[in-house]
Parts: sequence; C-alpha cells; structure tokens
Amino acid sequence: MITGLLTAAYLLSALLFVLALRGLSKHETARNGNFYGIIGMAIALVATIAFGMSEGNWWLLLLLTFAAMLIGAAIGVWRAVTVEMTEMPQLIALLHSFVGLAAVLVGFNSFLAPQDVAADMHLVHLIEVFVGIFIGAVTLTGSIVAFLKLSAKMSSKPLRLPGKNWLNLGALVVITVLGVWFCTSESWLPLVLMTAISLAFGYHLVASIGGGDMPVVISMLNSYSGWAAAAAGFMLNNDLLIVTGALVGASGAFLSWIMCKGMNRSFVSVILGGFGSDGQLTTGEQDYGTYRETSAIEVAELLKSAKSVVITPGYGMAVAQAQYPVAEITRRLRDLGVNVRFGIHPVAGRLPGHMNVLLAEAKVPYDIVLELDEINDDFPDTDVVLVIGANDTVNPAAIDEPGSPIAGMPVLHVWEAGQVVVFKRSMNAGYAGVQNPLFFKENSAMLFGDAKERVEDILKAL
Ligand code: NDP
Repeated sequence: MITGLLTAAYLLSALLFVLALRGLSKHETARNGNFYGIIGMAIALVATIAFGMSEGNWWLLLLLTFAAMLIGAAIGVWRAVTVEMTEMPQLIALLHSFVGLAAVLVGFNSFLAPQDVAADMHLVHLIEVFVGIFIGAVTLTGSIVAFLKLSAKMSSKPLRLPGKNWLNLGALVVITVLGVWFCTSESWLPLVLMTAISLAFGYHLVASIGGGDMPVVISMLNSYSGWAAAAAGFMLNNDLLIVTGALVGASGAFLSWIMCKGMNRSFVSVILGGFGSDGQLTTGEQDYGTYRETSAIEVAELLKSAKSVVITPGYGMAVAQAQYPVAEITRRLRDLGVNVRFGIHPVAGRLPGHMNVLLAEAKVPYDIVLELDEINDDFPDTDVVLVIGANDTVNPAAIDEPGSPIAGMPVLHVWEAGQVVVFKRSMNAGYAGVQNPLFFKENSAMLFGDAKERVEDILKAL
C-alpha cells in the first residue's frame, strides 16, 4: 500500500517536472513552469518523508530531515534574496558542484554501507557506485573551476598543458582499468584512486577551455549534474531521482547541442573534453590602428536622424544594469518614428537567455527582440547600431582571423551598419580575452563610461 502511494506520488512529481521544463522553454510560460516545478518538488519531499521512512528510527530520520531542510532552505532563501543578477551564472555553477558532491558522498555511502542488493544485481550495484562517483567527481571540480572562471577569481584564458587531449584520454583509460579492478576485487583502493583522478580530470577538462567556449561547458556541466543525480538515484534505489536526473541530464545535453550549433562547435568534441583552442595564436597583440571617441550629445544627434536602429546588448549591460534606460531610449526613439530592434546573440552575457531576461524585466516588447539569425541580414540596411556592453559577440575576428580563440563562432555583423557606437569603459578585451577590431573600424566610435550613465546622458540630450 505504502509503496503504491509512494510510486503514485513520484509519478505525479515526474509529470510536473516535465511540465515545468516545457513551461520554462518560453518567456510567456516560464512563471507557470516554475510553479509546476515547485509543486512537483513539494509532493516529492512530502511523499519521501511520509512514505519513505517507515522502518527503524524513522522519527530520528524525520527530525534530521526537517533540520537539514530548514538549514538548507534558510541558506537558499538568503542567497536568492542577496544575489546580484550578474552573480547568477557563478551561483548556478556552484550549485552544480553540490550535485556532484552529493553523488560522490552517496556513492561512498552506498559502498561502505550497502543496502540489501540481490546477489545477481551485486555487480550492477558496484558499477553504479563506480560510475556515480566518477560523474559526481568530474561535475564537482569542473563546476568549481567554472565558478572560479565566471567570478573572475581564475583567468578565463585556457590552461594549455602539453598534450592535453592525451592526458584526458590517458585518464579515461586508467579509470576504466580501475573500474575493472574495483568490480573484481571490491577493494576501496581503486575507488579512492579513481575519485582522485576524476577530480583532477574535471578540473583539467574545464580549466583548458577558453572564455569564449565557456557557455557550452556550463550547459554540459548542467547536464553532467543531472546524470550525477540519476546515478545517485540508482544507488539509492529512488525512481524519482533517476527520472529527475535523467530529465536534467537530457535537457542539459540538448541545450549543449543547441549551444554547439549556435557557436559552430562540435558536440562530440565537447563531450570528449578535447575542445577549445589548442595552442593557436590569439589576436589582441595586433595593431589595428586608431579608434575614434564620441560623446553622448553626438550620439543623440545621430539617433535623431536615424530611421533604423539596432541595439546589441552584452554582459556590460548586465553589469551596469543599463536595461531600464535602454528600454526608455527605445520607447523615446519609437515615439519619434525610428524603427528600433534588438539583436541578441545566443551567448551574450553569462547565462543562456541572460539578455532576454534583462530586457523582459525592463518591459521591452518581445516582438522587437530578435535572435542572431533573424537580425544578421538586416545590418546593411541599419543606420545606427548601439553596442551596449557587448564585445566577443560582435567581434569580426571570429570571421576574419582563423587563429583566434573565437574563430568560427557566429557573431552579430554590426560593422555592416552605417554607424556603430560602442558603449564600454575602456579598450579592454571581452571575456574571451581577445581584442576587438570592430572598435578600430572607420564607421565605429567609442562612447566610454558606465553604460547606464552614458545611456542616461543620451536620454537627456534627446
Ligand atoms: P563580453 O563579456 O565579451 O564583454 C563585455 C564588455 O562589457 C566588456 O568589453 C566590458 O568592457 C564591458 N563592460 C563591463 N562593464 C561595463 C559597464 N559597467 N558599462 C559599460 N561596459 C561595460 O560580452 P558579450 O556579452 O559580448 O560576450 C559574452 C562572453 O561571455 C562570450 O565570450 C561568451 O562565450 C561568454 N560566456 C557566455 C555565457 C552564456 O551562457 N551566455 C556563459 C559563460 C561565458 P570594459 O571593461 O572596457 O567596460
């Protein structure tokens, strides 16, 4: 009876998680999606507590579970309230690392204190433990490196150990051998050795990826965290954890595939960790000539005489929180009869959909916010482009310089417009660490300073 109720509750939760994912795939339905996710998780927690702890010291387990939930919820609420929007990507990376850590701990627990496993399933259980700890350890250190890179505590430049692909391959071979040793001997030594190698493997995998390729790695880590949870589900014999983990793993892998397509990278090479630039010469030290500086008043005049304007925002808009004056300038120009649209690069900012979220927050109408593919052919017919805090996503080096770390990545062809105004604070490179020849083109002008302040200056001048 109890098992039946638990299964029914888990099934309902799983359905709600599927609905949540479906809802989260569109702006308009994202709120509902979140709601389904919350209800699904609440049902799962209540069912696990009510029906899953019927043996032994269940009241002690109940007490400990509530204490852990209270502490976890308090920390979660505190972080959710205090986190800045610009810190979200690194927070997500850190949360992925917790899933990895949980899988490692569940794996060791499952090995040291095994539950009743049928004799014919013993080998399967050992493989579950081994694979679960492997995925968890890779996710753990990989996500910590992603956290450090995204929060600028570690350089976004790729680590280039000699023969990095051979190192990765060697690690995988050694891990496979250790797996055979573990399953035949059931000794803790190969398990500990594999954990240490997997931790180093996860570190190396992500550290050797350049800044421009980080979005794919992050969605890949998202996927790994899902598989780590699914592996924990197998070890704990928990169907819902298996289903939820598989949902996260599969949707993360699908997102990585979309990102790979968007960034012109090979999906297989990402999974194998052998992706990113490999010792190629970077741009940045080249002499691109001189750049021209402009003022807010000049830009206001330029905008007044324009018929068509495209705004391409990037990470700098998020840092400056410039989306509100940007939305205001859009309204003002549209009232003046100017055709204003937004061009959004799939990896602008530091999160998939980062710019869309900011613009939606500032109430910019969805129908003028266009994707890269939808806007790229329109630049030759555009009078003015405002590049607000974007850099790598508008860098022509991706097309013109085959040795660049961002070579091959599709970019917004803003330089094809009549005039380009670039809002940034200095001539510093973007996240990928390469200089941007766009700034030195004849039809480009730099408007230095904080993006929010400069847009507000233009608003005053309008
Ligand atoms: P970049 O990160 O390339 O550049 C941002 C620019 O904003 C910088 O040149 C900086 O210049 C400027 N800036 C920073 N603060 C301000 C401010 N207050 N006011 C005005 N300008 C400011 O931006 P993009 O969005 O073009 O590219 C995103 C990069 O991040 C890509 O390389 C992408 O691969 C990577 N990435 C994306 C992820 C995603 O999922 N979207 C995840 C991880 C990485 P200055 O300092 O001179 O002001």
